[in-house]
Amino acid sequence: MRKRFAVRWRAAAAVGAVTALLAMAPALGAQDVRAKEDGSAIIGLDIFDPAGAPFTLTFRSLDPGEVLLARLKEGTPFLRVMVSLGAQSRVLEAPSGDSSGSPMALLGIDLGTEPQPLKLKAKGWRADGTEESFEWLIVVTPKEFPQTRLQVAPAMTHPPAERLESIRRESVLVAEILGRVSADWLAEGAFQSPLPDHKPFPNFGQQRVYNKTVASVHSGVDISAPRGTRAVAPNSGRIVLANKLYYSGWTVIIDHGRGVFTYCCHFDKVLVKRGESVKKGQAIAEVGSTGRSTGPHLHWSVRILSARVDPFSLAALPL
Ligand SMILES: [Zn+2]
Repeated sequence: MRKRFAVRWRAAAAVGAVTALLAMAPALGAQDVRAKEDGSAIIGLDIFDPAGAPFTLTFRSLDPGEVLLARLKEGTPFLRVMVSLGAQSRVLEAPSGDSSGSPMALLGIDLGTEPQPLKLKAKGWRADGTEESFEWLIVVTPKEFPQTRLQVAPAMTHPPAERLESIRRESVLVAEILGRVSADWLAEGAFQSPLPDHKPFPNFGQQRVYNKTVASVHSGVDISAPRGTRAVAPNSGRIVLANKLYYSGWTVIIDHGRGVFTYCCHFDKVLVKRGESVKKGQAIAEVGSTGRSTGPHLHWSVRILSARVDPFSLAALPL
């Protein structure tokens, strides 16, 4: 049972003369409750829809690691709205013949965000050239993540000296790839698990200690499946990495556009190549246990701009 009304939206201080001064917002408005197709589970989503705002936000919760879907409201007089959460900014644009923009965008609350009020700002431009600014505070709720100790091969906590330079280059390469934002939205509809028939461990955000020495935060979820099980693309996009990395083993990164990336790894075999376009549900690799892994499973993580978010928080959204 999810906790309701544990989060509060508040009108923030005025920003110049054009700020929309909202009264204490009727914070959590309509509840959008969807049943999964197989009828097995209900996902509760909240919608933030204050009067006068040109967009809505849909999300599961405001915990660290959650994804928020911003959508331009139908009938709004604003043609273009810039929405900012902390350091992230996304532009929502009304569909038109000559615009490559999108009326929706995703924002992420990074896994490491301290419980605190975060500024949510928006600036809208009307067709007549006038503009208006809005500001709210959203209160990120505290979340306790589980802790665990794991035992792995010694080389996975203390790599051999001759590998250190290549490990450093790998992390630079991955950071570069995740920093290149494609302007177009390449995904189609909602995201799905790369192993739809297998149950994930609830281990997003887990604080780990490997071999009693190396501390690490688990910024994805693990899904256990027999070796050789085919994993599929969580959504359509472009393959931006299909390679073997030291810690994550055989790895596939898919760019879904607009700063959204899915990262799946520890495979035995990869079935796609860098540069290739993939469709949602297309086989991309076979489950294995390469890299820092304790048995056959798939590690799935998601980045939205620089935010590390729970993949299932993304998959819950009605895109
Ligand atoms: Zn993992």
